[in-house]
Amino acid sequence: MKEILLAYQGEMSLKGLNRAAFESVLLKTMRRRLKSLGEFKIYKAQSTMYAEPGEGVDVDAAEERLSKIFGIAALSRAAVCAKDFDEIRKTAVEYLRVPLCLARTFKVSAKRSDKAFPMNSMQIARELGGVLLAAYPHLKVDVHHPEVNVTVEIRDFAAYVHGGKRPGAGGLPVSTSGKAMMMLSGGIDSPVAAYLMAKRGLSLACVHFASPPYTSERARAKVLTLAERLTPYTGNLDVYVVPYTAVQEHLRDNAPDVLFTVLMRRSMLRIANLLCAKEEAQAVITGESLAQVASQTLWAIACTDAAQTLPVLRPCIGMDKTEIMELARRIDTYETSILPYEDCCTIFTPPHPKTKPQLGEIEAAEAAMPGLAALEARAAGEAERIAVHL
Ligand code: ATP
Ligand code: MG
Repeated sequence: MKEILLAYQGEMSLKGLNRAAFESVLLKTMRRRLKSLGEFKIYKAQSTMYAEPGEGVDVDAAEERLSKIFGIAALSRAAVCAKDFDEIRKTAVEYLRVPLCLARTFKVSAKRSDKAFPMNSMQIARELGGVLLAAYPHLKVDVHHPEVNVTVEIRDFAAYVHGGKRPGAGGLPVSTSGKAMMMLSGGIDSPVAAYLMAKRGLSLACVHFASPPYTSERARAKVLTLAERLTPYTGNLDVYVVPYTAVQEHLRDNAPDVLFTVLMRRSMLRIANLLCAKEEAQAVITGESLAQVASQTLWAIACTDAAQTLPVLRPCIGMDKTEIMELARRIDTYETSILPYEDCCTIFTPPHPKTKPQLGEIEAAEAAMPGLAALEARAAGEAERIAVHL
């Protein structure tokens, strides 16, 4: 039996005149992500995206990949048959045998966008319901909460029969909202922040600050693994690994202890800004969550933002750690994030960082470190760019 994957859009359908542009990005993304699985015919009709697998293609794997593409609100995996009720009947009985045998209740939904089909949606649903009750006598109809929603879609090219839609990744296709620089640590929060902003249509590049020998090769490898785990959602990522040791030692040796963390975060943001210019990225993203640690109080955030000019996006700002962890598990970054390697943010940290730093004292501290800007520029210039591709 010939199968097909149908991808339905959600929010994109509200995009008015820009809709065609969004759809074209989505089609391109689908082509790119499915390419390595074999041959697919991918096209759009009646605002639904179709992915038609060639001979011998792993449809399970394709479905899994599509379920991670932003811009797809829902998905279904359907059997294709001729637009003829007799064919539809046979296909439904056969194709949905396993789910129907396992279920106790079902309903039939029919959608007829090809109005030339002789039966209307109500008639299709009623007739097919009768056929399925006869074929699977243990079943009962439940129109409100069916275990299987047998669906027939009569469209332009064929009829499609499936057991109901499943939720897709939602959001907007990556790159339709612009590009941003993700500050990726090895922690739990920043990969979740990357996922959330890619979901809103941003394409991402990443920056990671490494301070060898204080941070290890394994910490760096961990960050690259995290980036790799994100690529099914974000697409290819370039990760800049910034050699941060000299800057950080300079801060340790010259900055007031209690301001060290905020000064370091300002310095990281300035370097991120330099890399944004190179990548034509329009914003910076962090995994910060309000008041989680001393550097994430409103006072510290205000001082951090004032170091630079780009918008700083913090999608986790209002989330509890438990919510962030739950999402990290769902997107499969959690297990990597909890590997216990040192991050540069946790070295040299003073025992009692100031939770209410004032911009005046921060700027005065920086004015007393005239060599800092040059060290930052050098670190940005020496950043290694690593391609983490799907
Ligand atoms: P995470 O789980 O993301 O590490 P965290 O609670 O440990 O978050 P911090 O260490 O204070 O928070 O870092 C806050 C944010 O700063 C991180 O979410 C990340 O965006 C950025 N950040 C921290 N360390 C680094 C690093 N080594 N390289 C790049 N960005 C970093
Ligand atoms: Mg961290």
